[in-house]
Amino acid sequence: MIVIDGCAIATLDGDGAEHADGHLVIEDDRIVAVGEGRAPDAPGARRIDARGMLATPGLVNCHHHLYQWATRGLAQQATLFEWLVELYPVWAHVDDEIEWAAARAGLAALALSGCTTTTDHHYVFPATAGDLLEVEIGAAGSIGVRFHPCRGSMDLGRSDGGLPPDEIVEDRDAILAASEEAVARFHDPSPGAMVRVALAPCSPFSVTAELMAETAQLARRLGVRLHTHMAETLDEEAFCIERFGVRPVQYLEDLGWLGDDVWLAHCVHLSDEEIGRFGATRTGVAHCPSSNARLGAGIAPVAALTRAGAPVGLGVDGAASNESGALSVELREALLVARIAGGPAAMTARDALALATIEGARCLGREDELGSLEPGKLADVALWRLDELDHAGIEDPIAALVLGRPRGVDTLLVGGRAVVEGGELRTADADAVAADAARQSRRLRERAGAPGGAAARGGSAA
Ligand SMILES: [Zn+2]
Repeated sequence: MIVIDGCAIATLDGDGAEHADGHLVIEDDRIVAVGEGRAPDAPGARRIDARGMLATPGLVNCHHHLYQWATRGLAQQATLFEWLVELYPVWAHVDDEIEWAAARAGLAALALSGCTTTTDHHYVFPATAGDLLEVEIGAAGSIGVRFHPCRGSMDLGRSDGGLPPDEIVEDRDAILAASEEAVARFHDPSPGAMVRVALAPCSPFSVTAELMAETAQLARRLGVRLHTHMAETLDEEAFCIERFGVRPVQYLEDLGWLGDDVWLAHCVHLSDEEIGRFGATRTGVAHCPSSNARLGAGIAPVAALTRAGAPVGLGVDGAASNESGALSVELREALLVARIAGGPAAMTARDALALATIEGARCLGREDELGSLEPGKLADVALWRLDELDHAGIEDPIAALVLGRPRGVDTLLVGGRAVVEGGELRTADADAVAADAARQSRRLRERAGAPGGAAARGGSAA
């Protein structure tokens, strides 16, 4: 049993209950009590003195590409399509050692930023690379975060009118067989699961319509969720209109891809009518504000989507288009970009925190056991220290967390297990993880023969 005492608490429950000086009690992997004031006596319990801290639900990251940790800092001034064309040939050289190092670094960065549950969209499977999905599931287990890996895929190479080079696309039947095998091997439908698998063809410009439709049928037969990229850029919109004769959302809907078992990354360029369809079908959205800003893609209509009833979670996206990889940063980014587009009432600090917690849990279909601090829910808890220079004395602890300088978490519990304590990773040596990531990033650049210098960084070499 664990007793957490003396902290402000944002429960994110259905009533939005908050406590100025409250307590949490945890038994095994579940929360058993939350409330104002001191916890009831619990002889033998481990006590965490959380004075000066804010307790929130562990953050939920709804979109990522962990392998991209090994290709940060490249193509800095590129549009999405330019960035992809530059990076695909590098990603074609990812192998199991690179995947392991990049995934561990990305997962450690997430944990240190308060994230207890993350998804990953892995769609690059070079023929000789080994089982990269198995590798990243092992990496998540070693860091100790709850993991929703997506078996991604690409089957539309350049010679068939797609964007990726032919060398890194797979055969459709092989993809469907590997997807089914991934679910059979790794997906755990039971309550409290640490690993759940989703199926995730990559994007309209790298996947055939046949694979999209057949993957949706397979996911529904197997009872797993669906994920893909959608409406990220105007280039994608133009591609869909030219190739399919319809806008991206209509394309997806025609293939059976709107529904409450689907969550989609980005959704920046949506019409009012399309936003209404997201709400009516309860299709989820993974909002990735830093990545959208970094690639100059635009600002997703988050307030309109949530008003329409669509679940909207937050995502860091891959670290090649968001060199931070920290989810606590996205709280602030989400609020700021919403207000740039829609004025100061477009998003409150509490709205931003809800995106990163309960709304993210809805995207992953786990709002019954994740995303809020309530008795019966899993003990995924983030404790944020707010009594130091950056935040001491601030009027509202939630404003400190969302509007103040983005910071690391002090203590992170996943199912009651301490993954971060005192701001330090407890499940791995962060310095060793960083050194391995640096070594494998270098190795990937050497394997790919990627040029260094200003051109590779997207600088103006001309
Ligand atoms: Zn992405």
